[in-house]
Order: sequence, then structure tokens, then C-alpha cells
Amino acid sequence: MNKPVRVLIVDDSEEDSELLVYELERGGYNPVYLRVDTPAAMMAALNQQRWDIVLADYSIPQFSATVALALLQEKQLDIPFIIVSGSIGDETAAAAMTAGAHDYLLKAKLARLVPALERELREAQVRQEHKQALFKLEYLAFNDTLTGLPNQRSFLNSIQKRIEQSQRKLHGLFAVLFLDIDRYQIVKYSLGHLLAEQLLVAIARRLETYLNPGDIFARVGTDEFALLLGDIQNPQSAQDRADQIQTALKTPFKLDGLVVSSSTSIGIVLSTIGYDQPEDFLRGADMAMHHARTQGRGGSAIFDRAMQTHAVERLQLETDLQRAIKCQQLHLNYQPIVSLTTGRVVGFEALVRWQHPTLGMVSPSEFIPMAEETGLIVSLGEWVLEESCRRLSLWQERFPKSSPLSISVNLSARELVQPGLIERIDELCFAFRLKAESLKLEITESILLENAEAAATILAQLKQRQIQISIDDFGTGYSSLSYLHRLPIDTLKIDRSFISCIDKQGKNLDIVKAIIPLAHSLKLDVVAEGVETEEQLLKLKALGCEYGQGYFFSPPLNDQAVVALIATMPRMEIEKKKFVTAIADHSSRRKNSGADDFFKASDSRELRRVSSNQRFSSTTG
Ligand code: C2E
Ligand code: MG
Ligand code: MG
Repeated sequence: MNKPVRVLIVDDSEEDSELLVYELERGGYNPVYLRVDTPAAMMAALNQQRWDIVLADYSIPQFSATVALALLQEKQLDIPFIIVSGSIGDETAAAAMTAGAHDYLLKAKLARLVPALERELREAQVRQEHKQALFKLEYLAFNDTLTGLPNQRSFLNSIQKRIEQSQRKLHGLFAVLFLDIDRYQIVKYSLGHLLAEQLLVAIARRLETYLNPGDIFARVGTDEFALLLGDIQNPQSAQDRADQIQTALKTPFKLDGLVVSSSTSIGIVLSTIGYDQPEDFLRGADMAMHHARTQGRGGSAIFDRAMQTHAVERLQLETDLQRAIKCQQLHLNYQPIVSLTTGRVVGFEALVRWQHPTLGMVSPSEFIPMAEETGLIVSLGEWVLEESCRRLSLWQERFPKSSPLSISVNLSARELVQPGLIERIDELCFAFRLKAESLKLEITESILLENAEAAATILAQLKQRQIQISIDDFGTGYSSLSYLHRLPIDTLKIDRSFISCIDKQGKNLDIVKAIIPLAHSLKLDVVAEGVETEEQLLKLKALGCEYGQGYFFSPPLNDQAVVALIATMPRMEIEKKKFVTAIADHSSRRKNSGADDFFKASDSRELRRVSSNQRFSSTTG
């Protein structure tokens, strides 16, 4: 089979052309050829199809090889170009090669034609591959391979150009928006890596349909997109565009038969901020996004310079927390959970504490959300789980005769869906010889509702092992009842915001009155959080609430205080107030009472501050 080759011949002689064709056929080719003898005809031929090689006579009446070469270059075509001439001097040939011809040969020595053609075709192929590789490299350098959008580098270049235009007063206002997908890590763990990536692509495609001419839309991080609004009328229009994006993302995505909802938090920097570095715009928008997120998911905020100070402090705190986890600056306190019928302590809730070297005690309400956002929660949570299991096992060993105690550990969303959780729990129960039913995991409703499928699978696995599940802060979130009977849950912990006013008639009392029988009908037991007064306790007892936790019984205690408490436990009875008195006596007798550091704030104003902080945490967490 002869090899096909497309040859464009620049020659005024049909006969000479046929000689070339004949030579190629002899060399094993099947040439498709066209002869042209004017620039216009050559142009038409180039427009008409792709050519593998040009064979050009050096000089013909209305045309020449140099003009033909110039035409190719004008059209930026890299086609092997061989001059085939009746006679050509060495100098002319050298000049033609300098101008870009690849080879030259004499019509009288056509035997060289095929080898020259083959060499040039090979070299053209190499040049082509090289060009493609360069093109790909350049594409990779400026584009994101997953979504095909410009990447961060390219986006920064676009901002740079826009800054320069502004400086030359070519355009008016512009804005940079930073979009971060809320809870992407959790989506990733619940849906798996591939579906999570599909979600990113789907988001990119949907948002592309909302772009205006002059906008640049890019992917600048794993789950981070950025938008340069090239021309805006006023600050409000940037805000309007952010709102529009958030509305656009409200419609759930269908991925592989699954319906996935998402939301984004958006930070905005307006060009009026006066930055001249593109990185500053992106960083500012990122900070504003974080600020928006602290106000709740799916919001937006316009950057101002105070956010920068705040972000620097926060970054410092993040670094400190990272170190604290590594250097074991964290410790656990344990708050007793008391049976309201027997007055006995049935278990403890492990609460993490951070004694910061310069800031003093930092509240978990402050650092837990930060740890969740940065992913530090995973290592923090692993430590909390292990330490809690270790302590419980030590207490059980030391007091074998005391009635069985349980330990409750708070788990955030990220921890619940983190791969390997179940295996880790199995290992810990085995290592510390704990019965699985003495471990309780406290999770909030939002975790169950926002990651319904993944959470259901994990809860089922936990249930198989008889690990107990409590719904923490019940009543502050969705208070959705549908999942309560569907999922294997053991306990509802009524949020302390309902307990705090339960001693007065009113809405809170009505809510608690409704929750308790509801829980019982679903065979769940109830823990009242934040019991602070005797009146609250009596009310809860009368309503049939099984367990209570709160400062009335005891603040969170350190390990030594827990040991002392367990040692005296069997003799305590709530009705006679001995329980409380016992702890109070015990505390005042010791210089370091072992009571929670927050609780120890002797000034009642300080205590209120802590309480209201915590109340805040329970409604937002
Ligand atoms: P939570 O799980 O609802 O824990 C109960 C919180 O209420 C604790 O706050 C506790 O000190 C406080 N408290 C207990 N009794 C009373 C009372 O009578 N009155 C008032 N006003 N407050 C009371 P804390 O220790 O500041 O923890 C706040 C939240 O931080 C916890 O709420 C929990 O959601 C989270 N948290 C604490 N430790 C951990 C942890 O190890 N892992 C995770 N993921 N979250 C944790
Ligand atoms: Mg809790
Ligand atoms: Mg709670």
C-alpha cells in the first residue's frame, strides 16, 4: 500500500510537477497534489485543506519560493517547505534556508526528493509534538484540569491587567469575589472523592451561565472559586451578583442519581480598596469570605481593613491550636450526668479545655468551630476519644464495684463522617477493655440532617456495636422529628436554653413538656442540659426526665476531682441535697477544687459571661 501524502506544488510547469509526482510514486507514496502558480491560488489552496509538504520552484513568472514561504509564515503554518529548482546558486539557497525553507534540491537530481521529504515529514512531526506539549504545559499552567476554568495564576494575571486598566483610568469600578463551598470536606467524605469532584464541575458549569461579558471566573483552590467582575456600576451591584450566585446554587444538583445541595460563602473586595497587588485582592476576598462564614453559612461580606487584623489574630490562634494539639496543651474535664431518679452519677461528658500560654483559657465554643473549619478537629477529636476511653477504663479499674459508668464524647460532623472512625472505636474499646455500651457519642441534629445518608450508615454500624448515640443541644436546630424514629438514637439532650427558664411558666416549659413524652414514646431517654437550680431539677423530675447535667450538680471536673467524686458516690441522693452539698464540701476542702476553670471564675458576672457564651455556642453549633 502506497503511503498517502498531500503535496502542494508551486510551479508553472505541469510537466515538472508530474515529474515530482512520479518520483514520489516511485518512492512508495500515493500523493494527492495540487499545482499553483500564483499567490492567490496558493492562498486558496491553503485555506481549502491541510498540506503535508510544499514543493516550490525557486522562481516562476508571477511567483517565487520566497513569496510562497512568506505566505505560509503569514498564515503561521508550519509545513515542510522544499525548494525544487532547475538551477540555484549556493548563496541563494542559503538565503532561502535562512528565510525558513527546510531544504532545496535540483530538478536534475530528483533522487534526493523522497529521502528529503521523509526527513522533513519526520521533523515536522517532532516539531508538532513539541508544540503540543508546550501548549499543554501552558494550558496546565493557567487552567484547572478538573473544571477547565482558569486557575489561580491566570486569575491573578487577570486582576493585574484590570488594576493596570484602572490606573490608566480605562474602566470604572471592579470587584473580586471569593466563593467557598460550605462544608465541602464533609460532602467529600460522605459522597466520596469522585462525586465531590463532580459537584465542583456541576457548580462551575452552573455558575458559568451567570457570567456577564468581561467577567473572569476561575477555580482558585479545591472548593474555592473566584470571580472578577470587570465592570460594575457601584458596590451594591457586586453584592447583587453575590446574592444571585447564592440563589443560583440553592437548586440542588443531581449527581449519579443523588440529590446534593450546596451553598457558598462569598467574600467581596471592591477596587475602591486601592490595592495594587492582585494577591491582595484575592486574600482580602478570602478573609471577607471567612468573615461571612462566621455569620452563618451561605452568606456574603464586603472586605474592610478591620477584617485583616481579625484574620491575623485568627491565623495566630489556628497555629497555636495546631501546636496545642501536638504538644498536648489540651486537657479534658468531665461533667457528671446524674440520674434524677436515683441521684447517682451515671456517667460523664468529656469536655475539652485549652489553656493557652498567653490568652489563658480559650472556650471550646471559640476553638471547636475553628478546628472544624481547618480540619484540625480530626486530630483533636482522635485525642479526645482516646483520652476519654483511657480515663473511663482507669476509673472502672479503680472502682470495680461502683455501678457501671459511661463516658459521653462530643463528635462534630467532620469526625462522624471521617473514614476509619468505626475501626478506631473498635481499637480503643479493645485496647482499654471497654464495653461498647459505656461509650456515648454526642452529635447534633444538623449533622444528621445535612449528611443524612452517610450519617445513617455510620449510626447503623455504631448501633451494631451497641455504642450509644445522643442528640446534643436538642431543640436549637431543626428539631426535625422524622429522623428520630428512623435512626438508631438512644438519648435526647435538651439544650440548656430551654432548661434555663423552665422554672417559670412559658414557652420553654411547654417545649420541655412536649419533648419528654415524645422522646419516651420513641423509647429514647432524656438528659436535661444546664440544670442550675433546685427548682429546675424538681420540675424536670416531675416531668419524668431521666437524667440531668449542669452546675447545680457539678461543673465539669478534672480527673482527680472525678476520682474523689466516684469514691463518695454511692451515698449521694438528690432529694436530700446531699449530692450537691457533698461536691461543694469536697470542693471547698481542697485548695484546687478540680472544678472547671470556666466555672471557677468566682465573680458571678464572669460566670454569667461564660454561661451566655456557652448558650451562644449551643444555638449556633
Ligand atoms: P455541649 O456538648 O452542649 O456541652 C455542654 C456545655 O455546657 C459545656 O460547655 C459545659 O461546660 C456547659 N455547661 C454545663 N453545665 C452548665 C450549666 O449548668 N450552665 C451553663 N451555662 N453551662 C453549662 P463547654 O465545655 O464550653 O463546651 C461547649 C461546646 O463545645 C460543647 O457543648 C460541645 O459542643 C463543644 N465541645 C466541647 N468539647 C468538645 C470535644 O471534645 N469535641 C467536640 N467536637 N466538641 C466539643
Ligand atoms: Mg455535648
Ligand atoms: Mg449540649
